Amino acid sequence: MAVILCGGVSTMFRKTAVGVVVVVAILAGVAFFMPRPSPPVLAKLLTVYATVAPITVHPVSEGIYYVSGGMANSGIIVANSSVILVDAQMFAPAAKKVLKAIAQITPKPVSTIILTHSDPDHVNGLPAYPRGLEIIAQENTGPEMQEALQNPLMNTTATPAELKDYLPTKTVKDSETVVVDGVTLQLMHLAPAHTDSDLIIYLPAQDVVFTGDILAPDFSQYPGIHLNKHGSSLGWIKTMQALIALNAQVYVSGHGQPLKRADLQERLQIAMSRRAEIEQLVAQHKTLDEVKAALNDPPPKGLAKMFPTFTETTYQELTQQ
Ligand SMILES: [Zn+2]
Repeated sequence: MAVILCGGVSTMFRKTAVGVVVVVAILAGVAFFMPRPSPPVLAKLLTVYATVAPITVHPVSEGIYYVSGGMANSGIIVANSSVILVDAQMFAPAAKKVLKAIAQITPKPVSTIILTHSDPDHVNGLPAYPRGLEIIAQENTGPEMQEALQNPLMNTTATPAELKDYLPTKTVKDSETVVVDGVTLQLMHLAPAHTDSDLIIYLPAQDVVFTGDILAPDFSQYPGIHLNKHGSSLGWIKTMQALIALNAQVYVSGHGQPLKRADLQERLQIAMSRRAEIEQLVAQHKTLDEVKAALNDPPPKGLAKMFPTFTETTYQELTQQ
């Protein structure tokens, strides 16, 4: 099947090509040369980027697509009489492009949004969608969305007033199978991994999984663990083992290209051996700096600089026990 470009958006993109180059250049500068970009400045730059950058819709399976080009992927599942959306984008302009892209696929309206976790790049675009939709999430997502709105980066992308009408309407604690408009979905929270609000969406009939950020972006071989949201490398390992056991055809991650089971096995192996190395060094009472030096940790690239590395979070996790 052909890749579908959002038509109106690509026209706008051509008209603003110079602007895009400038914004991307600034973003690249911010991302690659500044050690810790100022959140409000970064949020403003990203808003401009989200307005001008095109999105792309990729077919995954019959009636299932994922959207790239925003700050995070979204999933589109065409159900009997409506559309189920996975993740809402970070910015309203990108969310509106997703709605336009859906309209090119089907006239059916969006009825349900399932959130893979509470991070802003997946939830802050919610106010761009019609009010009153069913919003399904793990039970920690709503409180974390509300808490995160105190953060300056969050406040520049969505306000409490906007998001209060978009808190989850149905929550899942551990695992639950639901049928939404004729589509069977296994919703799974096996352990805190990337965050304690992770929710895996498995479509058994289509053999497709939406994993959210349990699978890290393409540029990082190690998982991203948000300790501030009670993420856990041990929980991540357990979750990855369960994802691999599903033996699905395709795993659509929160960022980057879909992965295969073999990719997950490779990533699990890499993370497990790095974790074992860190554990050994912690047992020898090494400091974090000594651990990093011993492991010759590669410096994080791009936007990954905004977050602690796997070595840093694992060290913290192991030394806090
Ligand atoms: Zn994300």
